[in-house]
Amino acid sequence: LANRAFHPEDSVIDVSGVKVGGGHLALIAGPCSVESYDQVLEVAEAAKASGANVLRGGAFKPRTSPYSFQGLGLEGLKILCEVKETVGLPIVTELMSPQYLDLFNEKVDLIQIGARNMQNFDLLKQLGQVDRPILLKRGLNATYEEWIMSAEYIMASGNENVILCERGIRTFETFTRNTLDLQSIPVLRKKTHLPVVVDPSHAGGKWWLVEPMAKAAVAAGADGLMIEVHNNPECALCDGAQSLKPEKYDSLLAQVKQIAQVV
Ligand code: PEP
Ligand code: MN
Repeated sequence: LANRAFHPEDSVIDVSGVKVGGGHLALIAGPCSVESYDQVLEVAEAAKASGANVLRGGAFKPRTSPYSFQGLGLEGLKILCEVKETVGLPIVTELMSPQYLDLFNEKVDLIQIGARNMQNFDLLKQLGQVDRPILLKRGLNATYEEWIMSAEYIMASGNENVILCERGIRTFETFTRNTLDLQSIPVLRKKTHLPVVVDPSHAGGKWWLVEPMAKAAVAAGADGLMIEVHNNPECALCDGAQSLKPEKYDSLLAQVKQIAQVV
């Protein structure tokens, strides 16, 4: 179902009115984690003014250490929904457990499946029961074929609205958090008709790598960008080092829009 051979045209996925794919860019921005209403509101208003069309924010966080901030959970989801009402941007947030699938289907415009759950096949199969589009992040060490097969799981269970997200893979290099695989963009676009969005924030792990990699991703044909933006990165509860201040995000998008015009 994901194979380009049987579906030559690019899929255009509708995220509550925002088109993604076939020349339409998803410009997803927001904090790594929802921390408070004021925080999300400030970031969302600034990002929207810069041109973002989808708001991100983690409520349920997959953290490496059980002692790290785990996200505000249901309270975080409630805050995201409130900001969505005020600012008018569709929201994307990560689902970790099928327990909240119905709730997410009701409230979340784009359901994110994180890198760590890319091969949680039970979770993937359940996503066929909802009609919300899915943002499927690439697993930390997933090959293209494994990633496509995970999309296939969702599609085969009844939900064909899948957007792929390259977020860097594990390599021998430790200076960067992960290694952004820019080649995944043309490869996935050749093998599938699904939109491919790039997350340079989790790839590099450093804020100053975000802008050059975002520009390279759009030049390589990405269907969008997911970027972490925080109003006060030094005090962020998660991923401050890779988060852009709103002003930086603004100048990044201005450049990205110019590149998108010539691609
Ligand atoms: C995220 O985008 O919030 C996230 C946790 O990313 P990943 O699953 O790619 O690590
Ligand atoms: Mn993060």
